[in-house]
Amino acid sequence: MEDVVIVGAGIAGLATSLGLLRLGVSSVVLESADSLRTSGSALGIWSNGWRALDAIGVGHILRAKYNKLSGIVITSVSSGVQTAELPFRDSHTQGGDLEFRCVNRRVLLETLANELPIGTIRYSSKVVHIQSEDHAKSIHLSDGTVLETKVLIGCDGVNSVVSKFLGFSTPAYAGRTSVRGFVNFQDGHGLEAKFFQFFGKGVRFGVIPCDDYAVYWFITFRPSSLEKEMVEDPAKVKQLVLSKLGKVSDKIMRVFEETELENMVCAPLRFRYPWEMLWGNISKDNICVIGDALHPLTPDIAQGGCSALEDSVILVRLLARALKRNDEGNEHHAITEALEKFARERRWRCFDLISTSYIVGYIQQSDGVLLQFF
Ligand SMILES: Cc1cc2nc3c(=O)[nH]c(=O)nc-3n(C[C@H](O)[C@H](O)[C@H](O)COP(=O)(O)OP(=O)(O)OC[C@H]3O[C@@H](n4cnc5c(N)ncnc54)[C@H](O)[C@@H]3O)c2cc1C
Repeated sequence: MEDVVIVGAGIAGLATSLGLLRLGVSSVVLESADSLRTSGSALGIWSNGWRALDAIGVGHILRAKYNKLSGIVITSVSSGVQTAELPFRDSHTQGGDLEFRCVNRRVLLETLANELPIGTIRYSSKVVHIQSEDHAKSIHLSDGTVLETKVLIGCDGVNSVVSKFLGFSTPAYAGRTSVRGFVNFQDGHGLEAKFFQFFGKGVRFGVIPCDDYAVYWFITFRPSSLEKEMVEDPAKVKQLVLSKLGKVSDKIMRVFEETELENMVCAPLRFRYPWEMLWGNISKDNICVIGDALHPLTPDIAQGGCSALEDSVILVRLLARALKRNDEGNEHHAITEALEKFARERRWRCFDLISTSYIVGYIQQSDGVLLQFF
């Protein structure tokens, strides 16, 4: 009988396992792949994500590797004209800076995993079925192994088996596709430490320097039926991306042109309808879900990973308190209460993030005359 089983060794799963460890609770992390899944190249982490990384004691390791960006520069895809430049300031902390850095996904996952005791992550352990027997939960793996646990936390991403078990529906297709890429310039990229964002003509793309050499980029668009066929072939995807850039500077164009095909990932965007956050079972008995398993959102406000980190810290604090009560008889009740409290705390936050992200993407990626003018 394990105390805590976490399904998925992504950002949410590893942060949760590490957070619990910091509070003296050990856990097992089941990962279907045979190693850490590092596709997706990089992601932007905002202040809320950094606060969570600080809480679990790894913020300083990552800060030392990635440049803090000073602001965002917005350019119209139609005209090539810069339309706005905004510093990263936090309106809630009276002029304090917002912290935004772009972190390599592999480095983030490895940093979290390296802090865990050897054996915590069990690779090639795909969860296929969950069974509820009284207070314990049985977790069935594809190789026939069965584990029992007092607490089950689903961190298994957008196709989560745990959220299905809790009654959530399959996330919806947002009608948009994303391509993400990563490029390393031996001689330095020469870009300022700013987030360069472009939108108009039905596309939205961004270029974000990580350090002095590495640059991450993304583009989202609504694919036509012809384009849907092209996304199967990386060479065609690159052609498609280049054709959508409009008027950009040579430095920005170089970022896309010099990206190797194997450093690009193309994926349809999916999200969960926000109202599911209000009446869905975020927790049930001693099971709960967090991260993309709970609230997959479109990437338009760069909050999927950051909010997964928030989820982890909040859940860990509640759960560790429940597990460390010296009251064996009431342990199950304390766990259930902790998970219910987590669900209450997160419901509206997740509703807000999914809705805001969807609306921002809808406006920025519109090719309608009115919305483009707006
Ligand atoms: C184009 C794009 C850009 C983005 N940009 C940003 C950004 O700038 N900032 C940001 O904060 N977020 C961003 N995100 C969102 C972010 O990538 C996700 O929200 C984040 O990765 C979610 O982490 P997770 O741990 O919940 O899920 P995942 O990263 O999906 O991890 C789930 C893990 O569970 C494993 N798993 C799945 N099923 C099983 C099973 N049955 N058994 C065992 N293991 C299983 C998987 O192999 C995987 O390792 C972006 C997303 C997209 C699509």
